[in-house]
Amino acid sequence: MSNREIIFPKSKKNPKEILQTMQDIRANDGNWQEGRVWSLVYYPGEEAYKLLQDAFNLFFSENALNPTTFPSLRKFENEVAAMTTHLLNGDENCVASMTSGGTESIMSALKSARDYAAEKFPHITNPEVVIPNSAHPAFMKAAHYLKLKLVVVPVEKDFRVSVEKMKFSINKNTILLVASAPSYPQGVMDPIEEIGNLALDNKLLFHVDSCIGGFMLPFLEKLGEKIPKFDFRVKGVTSMSADVHKYGYSSKGGSVIVYRNKELRRKQFYVYSEWPGGIYGSPAILGTRSGGSIAAAWAMINHLGEEGYINLAKETLNATHKLMEGIRQIPELFILGNPIMTIFSFGSDEIDIYAVGDEMAIKGWYLDRQQYPANLHLSVHYGHIPYIDKFLEDLTQCVAIVKKSKIRSVSRQFIRFMVRGMAKTLPENWVSKIAAFGNSISSGSTIPKRSAAMYGMMGELPNRNDVHELVLDFLDKLQTPDFKNSQDIH
Ligand SMILES: *Cc1c(COP(=O)(O)O)cnc(C)c1O
Repeated sequence: MSNREIIFPKSKKNPKEILQTMQDIRANDGNWQEGRVWSLVYYPGEEAYKLLQDAFNLFFSENALNPTTFPSLRKFENEVAAMTTHLLNGDENCVASMTSGGTESIMSALKSARDYAAEKFPHITNPEVVIPNSAHPAFMKAAHYLKLKLVVVPVEKDFRVSVEKMKFSINKNTILLVASAPSYPQGVMDPIEEIGNLALDNKLLFHVDSCIGGFMLPFLEKLGEKIPKFDFRVKGVTSMSADVHKYGYSSKGGSVIVYRNKELRRKQFYVYSEWPGGIYGSPAILGTRSGGSIAAAWAMINHLGEEGYINLAKETLNATHKLMEGIRQIPELFILGNPIMTIFSFGSDEIDIYAVGDEMAIKGWYLDRQQYPANLHLSVHYGHIPYIDKFLEDLTQCVAIVKKSKIRSVSRQFIRFMVRGMAKTLPENWVSKIAAFGNSISSGSTIPKRSAAMYGMMGELPNRNDVHELVLDFLDKLQTPDFKNSQDIH
C-alpha cells in the first residue's frame, strides 16, 4: 500500500460519524481497561481517572509556550515542579521544570550538564558521560543529539552497575555520571549513595533517573519499605528526572526535571533575541506545549496527595508481590534480579520465554520483550489489581503449552540457522529479506501476536548493525499509513 492511497478528505463529515469511526478503529487496541497491557498505561481508579480527563479538557486549548498569557498554567507548572522537588527531598536551592516526558527531562539534564561543564571546565573539549547499560535509551538518544560521548558500563549479575567499574570509566573528559532509581528493565536500584560519593570525589555532575520510580519510591518509603536513599538527600546528586505520567498517574506529556541549583537549570534554557517575530525564550525543548497535561498533573497531585499515592502504592506493591510469588511457583520461570518496587521481569532457562510472550498475546496479554538475557517485563499499576489471578492462571497454561510444543522451537532453531547461513552467503541483501519477513509478521491492523521468531532472529544476528537497519525498516513501516485501517473513513 502506498502513501498515495490516503488523500486529504474532500468533504466535511459530522463529528458523531468521526467519533464512531474512531471507536471502531480502536477495537484492536491493547485492552488496558481490563489489565491486559503491562506497560505504557497507568490507571489510578475511576474517580481520579475522570478528574484527569476533566482537568485535561479544561486546558487543552491553552498553550504554555507563553505563560504570561496564561498565568493559570504558569501556576500549575511551577507548583507541579515544586511539589515534585519536595517529594524528592530537594532543599530550598533546588529548582525544577516541567517537561513533556522522561525523554525531554533527560535530554534537558544532559544539555544542562554539557553547557555547565563547558563553562566551568573549558579545557574539556570532548565531554564524556558515564552510564550503566541498563539506563534508559533516552540517554543514548540525548547523547546522540547533543554530541556527547557515552561510556557505557555493563551491569553486574544482579543487574546493578558496579561503582568500581564506573570509577574506572572516569577520565579527565568526564563531566557527568548517570544511574537509575530504579532501572526500567529489571526494576533494580543502582547504588545511588556510593555513586554520589564517587561524583563528589571527582567533582562531577550526577543525574539520577527516577522517571519510573520518582512517584513510587517516596511513597513506599513512607509505607516503611526499605528503600536506600536515592534522591537529593544524597549529596552528590545534581539532577533528577521523575515522570508524572507514569506512577504520578497523570496524562501522557508530564515529567519533571529537578536541579540542585539555579545555576545548573539556567543552562537548560534557550534564548534567541534577534528574531523579527520577537525575543524568544524557551525553558526546555518543546515550543508550543499543551496546557492539558500540565493542568492534569496539577489536578492529580492535588487530588491524591500523599495519602492517595501511598494507598495506590501499597495496593500496587501487594499485587506485585502476589504476581512475583505466583511466577516463582512456576518451576520453569524465574524473576531477574531483586526488583525494588512495582516493575520487574521474568525469564526461563528451560523454555523459550518469547514463545511464552506469544502465547500470552494470543490470550490478549501484552508484555514487553527484553534481551540479555531474553525476558518479559511487567510494569504493574493500580488498574492491574483485579486481574492478577487471571494473569497467573493464563501464564501457567502458556508455559505448559510452550513446554509441550517442541515443533515450534525446532522451527525457530531453523530460522536461526537460516539467518546465520544468509549472513554468510548473502551479505548485500539478506537484511532486506529478513526485514520483509519481519514485516510479514507484524503487518495487518492488529498488534502482532507471534513475534518470538522475529525476536529470536534479532538475537541471532551476528552484527548489531543489521539489527539497527532492521529496526529502521520497521520504523519506516510503522510511519506508513495502513490503507485497510483507513478506508472506512475516506
Ligand atoms: C519511561 C522512562 C524513561 C523515558 O521516559 P518517556 O516518558 O518514555 O520519554 C526514562 N527512564 C526511565 C527509567 C523510564 O522508565
